[in-house]
Amino acid sequence: MQILIVEDETAIAEGLRFNFEQEGYDVTVCCDGPSALEHFDAQADAIDLVVLDLMLPEMSGYEICSKMRESNPDVPIMVLSARTLSEDKTRAFDCGVDQYMTKPFALPELLSRARNLLDRRRRQKGKPLAKQTADRVTIGNADVNFRTYEITVEGRTQQLTTMEVQLLQYFIEHEGAVLSRQQILKDVWEQAAEISTRTVDNFVMRLRRYVETDPAEPCHFLSVRGTGYRFLMDGYAASIDTTTD
Ligand code: CA
Repeated sequence: MQILIVEDETAIAEGLRFNFEQEGYDVTVCCDGPSALEHFDAQADAIDLVVLDLMLPEMSGYEICSKMRESNPDVPIMVLSARTLSEDKTRAFDCGVDQYMTKPFALPELLSRARNLLDRRRRQKGKPLAKQTADRVTIGNADVNFRTYEITVEGRTQQLTTMEVQLLQYFIEHEGAVLSRQQILKDVWEQAAEISTRTVDNFVMRLRRYVETDPAEPCHFLSVRGTGYRFLMDGYAASIDTTTD
């Protein structure tokens, strides 16, 4: 999915870019209104979220938002601004923004709000998150809640990111099948422009750390040499047991 960041403070823009790219999103940064609108109009339906600063050179964030809304009423827009006054927020919402966050912001909150907007966008585009997976799934010692994005292992609960959840659901939907890195990238990330298959490896490593008793000797997320991965809900040892019965 694609995110457009409109921000003239380089440190903030690059910090956001880093964190969104860690999630496997495709990120574009524009530091003023005209270039942002040019990119927005050219990409049209491909953009899934706009993160917009209000105080920018040349054109205000309000103006940018209004123009974006004229050409596309559906793309989620999240304002990120140092302005904390109620009238600033009202004006922004009147221009059509979906979320308003004040600077300085807490990164987990920002990522969580972005995740909600991206999920909404995904549903809007007719790509539901979970087609067949249940709300709760048990994989070995791990209990996964797909409603809250939480994974609990031996009483310890951790928050999963959107891409971790999507990859996990993909594995569950294709349980037992050998999945190539390219196929996973294509199906889960949907576009592979600047994302390498190494991203898949990194995310599988993350899932192994959550789920596997020994991530170095995985029994659920198996490596298939030269190809990719194979997921087993009940684990490798358990599947051997059933075949020898
Ligand atoms: Ca600014």
